[in-house]
Amino acid sequence: MADEYTPIDRMPVLMPVYARADIYFERGEGCWLITDKGERYLDFIGGIAVTGLGHAHPDIVRALKDQAEKLWITSNVFKTHQTEKLARRLVELTFADTVFFQNSGVEAWECSIKTIRKYFSSIGQPQRYRVITFQGCFHGRTLAAIAASKAEKMVKGFGPMMEGFDQVAWGNLNEVRAAITEETAAISIEPVIGEGGMKVASNEFLMSLRKICDEFGLLLHFDEIQCGMGRTGKMFAHEWAGVTPDVMCIAKALGNGFPIGACLATAMAARGMVVGTHGSTYGGNPLATAVGNAVLDVMTEHGFMHRVRKIGDYMWNKFDALTKAHPKVFTEHRGKCMMQGFVCAPLNTDVVAALREQKLLGLGAGDNVVRFVPPLITTEAEVDHAVDILDRVAKQMAS
Ligand SMILES: *Cc1c(COP(=O)(O)O)cnc(C)c1O
Repeated sequence: MADEYTPIDRMPVLMPVYARADIYFERGEGCWLITDKGERYLDFIGGIAVTGLGHAHPDIVRALKDQAEKLWITSNVFKTHQTEKLARRLVELTFADTVFFQNSGVEAWECSIKTIRKYFSSIGQPQRYRVITFQGCFHGRTLAAIAASKAEKMVKGFGPMMEGFDQVAWGNLNEVRAAITEETAAISIEPVIGEGGMKVASNEFLMSLRKICDEFGLLLHFDEIQCGMGRTGKMFAHEWAGVTPDVMCIAKALGNGFPIGACLATAMAARGMVVGTHGSTYGGNPLATAVGNAVLDVMTEHGFMHRVRKIGDYMWNKFDALTKAHPKVFTEHRGKCMMQGFVCAPLNTDVVAALREQKLLGLGAGDNVVRFVPPLITTEAEVDHAVDILDRVAKQMAS
């Protein structure tokens, strides 16, 4: 059986791997996106979990412009103050001792996996290279990341998958333990699953994974590309559980829309990453790290995370009420803080389309979820506006 394909006489100029809505956006302001016709949409997907500080945040725009007039890039064989400063700040904020910058989430995830494999090789155990991942996980779209996720729509037709990923059921410690062999190197998990349906790992679960890793000499890896950078009301989601990983990847809101990712590791976990083992042309360029520094300036201001938790609670209560008011449309409410979703009774893509008609942007996720990852600076009035639209659309879809 052949895979689906695009007829050659209907090939658009942009490779058709997305079902793109027929809307052209021209400008963004905070939580709002404005089309070429001047229509305003409430952007409750925040770019795509990227604009933690909203579109066109004045401090971030200024940082980018200032840096743009000075220096865009050097080879990574030289140093820049912007890049070292961002690395030092990330180290100070976390468990990590060292950072490698990349240009995207998946690159940061893949750098983590390379770091993990190289660690075991550096301690004379190269046979330990396998990584345990979870059903419904999403780590990006490179060949390694799709091999880790194993989702059919991502892997089908792309040839033999890279070896070395063992998948277990989400939240199932027995399966985790049973999957560990002499070849296991690490466990990789999103503390809050985004793409896969807004599922939150409990504090107990993360603590148990830490214990299992310590017991079996495995490294623990967190993918905080989506749930990190303030999304759950702390700088990183794992802080809620009071456990730290050995390696972590971040991206998305770190650049507020400017492409940047980072792999963070302890000195021990990174011991194999010596000169010549890894690299990147653009990774850690001063434009990207100037933006990252400006993002951290805002997010580490006194009271910032407190406000995120407050607006997250506000949204949680309002969304909970929606689930109760419309049980035939929203069957479950999930997530944490500024990362929330509804499991839908109708097709989630129909709900997303109906919301878009009313100029509210939501996003589909696994488990038939419609998800919302609005900017962390969203106001109560903007949440109310979204809730009005959700209420209207739910009434319309229930009838
Ligand atoms: C978005 C995302 C990625 C991939 O990031 P890209 O920048 O698209 O490569 C990986 N992991 C998680 C959890 C994500 O949300």
